[in-house]
Amino acid sequence: MEEYVPCFSCGAKSLSFKGECHTYMLASPGCYEMFKEVLAREYSDFGYAKANHYTVDSYAVQHPGEISNKKAVNSVGIHLVSLYFLFEKNYDLEKSAEIKMKFAEFNKTNEVVHPLERPEEFEGLTIFDIWDNEDPEKHFELCKRWALNAWNSWRKQHNTVEKWVTIFLNEKMPKRRNH
Ligand SMILES: [Zn+2]
Repeated sequence: MEEYVPCFSCGAKSLSFKGECHTYMLASPGCYEMFKEVLAREYSDFGYAKANHYTVDSYAVQHPGEISNKKAVNSVGIHLVSLYFLFEKNYDLEKSAEIKMKFAEFNKTNEVVHPLERPEEFEGLTIFDIWDNEDPEKHFELCKRWALNAWNSWRKQHNTVEKWVTIFLNEKMPKRRNH
């Protein structure tokens, strides 16, 4: 009796659902509903909570908004920077969350993030796989895999993201500055 449709952005098997979507992370309503339900689990259940950083980054980069919307562009850029530190620099979740906030602050005044061409399609896991799993023990590893899949799907833009990070780190590291 339940009908599924693929999310137009991430391809997730989504409930055929009429409803609201996020203002700039554009998704099919049924996909966005699964994201909200996963977030609710993460906010209310300690067993799920520690994967939240992966969930938010993965979902954001799989649902880029209009490139004419600065908030949408910055959101994708900042979450890609976070994934860069997680998977290319092997930062732990806490350290990556911290640097993501610093980068977002830096980007407010320096505006290094610019619109990127999104991947034609996303490979691997989607919010459906996370939403569909009811075993808290598996939640964290699934979200980590999902985040890695999401990052890899953006491979054509990895060099650009690295350039943004380099600009940021050079500005933030006083020893490299000319006095
Ligand atoms: Zn989606």
